[in-house]
Amino acid sequence: MILDLSLSELEQRVQELGEPKFRAKQLYEAALMLKDLPEISNLPNSFKEKIADEYFSYEIVAHLTSVDGTHKVAIRFSDGSVVESVLLSYKYGRTVCVSTQVGCRMGCKFCASTLNGLQRNLTAGEILLQVLFFNKLLGGSLKERKVTNVVLMGCGEPLDNFENVCKFLRLLTAPEGLNISARNISLSTCGLVPNIYKLADEGFCVTLTISLHAPNDELRKTIMPIANAYKIEEILQACDYYFSKTGRRICFEYSLIDGVNDTDECIKELAKILKGRSCHVNLIPLNSVKEKKLLGVTRKKAYSIAGKLQKLGISATVRRSLGQDIDGACGQLRNRVGGAN
Ligand code: SAH
Repeated sequence: MILDLSLSELEQRVQELGEPKFRAKQLYEAALMLKDLPEISNLPNSFKEKIADEYFSYEIVAHLTSVDGTHKVAIRFSDGSVVESVLLSYKYGRTVCVSTQVGCRMGCKFCASTLNGLQRNLTAGEILLQVLFFNKLLGGSLKERKVTNVVLMGCGEPLDNFENVCKFLRLLTAPEGLNISARNISLSTCGLVPNIYKLADEGFCVTLTISLHAPNDELRKTIMPIANAYKIEEILQACDYYFSKTGRRICFEYSLIDGVNDTDECIKELAKILKGRSCHVNLIPLNSVKEKKLLGVTRKKAYSIAGKLQKLGISATVRRSLGQDIDGACGQLRNRVGGAN
């Protein structure tokens, strides 16, 4: 589909169809505003007919708004797959949280995205469409972009869909497109080590966020199957490489699970392994997922843990949790068949 293509790829395609090159820019700009083909007034019908099969189609099958202003939409693509995306509004801007896969095969014990396994990878254009949708909803355009930040923290493991995610990052940061700066993009991974190296070598300079959630491999293995494949030490080495290549401080996510990873020993061990690294810890009290038995901690406890980490010399904050009432918070996104509950 057309949103998978960069402007220069679209120019090539348009010429293959026997049309003048300038049509590509017109089409590209209209597509990035998610216009339907009939709405595009500056293109001749003969051209629209030629391109119709390659255009995009999607349907919003649910749109929920939280009391805190968070929006969550369920988007259905032409093959029937449904993914969820979230818009979070903060003082400093508006962040879109995109899904990168339909489902997920990482199997983390606390996460809703993995309940039905992986259905398929999203294409670059399908990931981009989620950002474009919210930009349009906010009344933005290409010149006056309303979305300021993008996080790859929705459903799916971005580094398990490496090529499409890299393509998406190129499209998202393209000056002729939404032109979002890499420093306003965060990519979160449960730690697919070889692909952290590959991402560093791609040279995107996005913020790398590691879902750590445990200070040692034994405990991590009990909640995250990926820990059987890669040791924390290997992840940290890959992070050091990422930092050396990009200069970007690494962020570690640590979801606090009551009685599992929130003990004083755990926190001390966490501080010990991160000591001396240019990094930041984001603490998130675990959000509830109805099928999962694990419980979160109170925000008060999370703040006290942040204080302990800071005393031990580690930069740490508690993440604001938005959109909980619409199951739009971390770990609550899923692929709802047909978009219903
Ligand atoms: N697969 C990627 C992207 C998902 S990002 C990754 O693992 O990083 C979503 C973040 O929310 C991850 O840090 C994930 O571990 C965390 N998370 C998952 N379930 C959660 C839950 N129930 N409560 C809080 N955080 C959760």
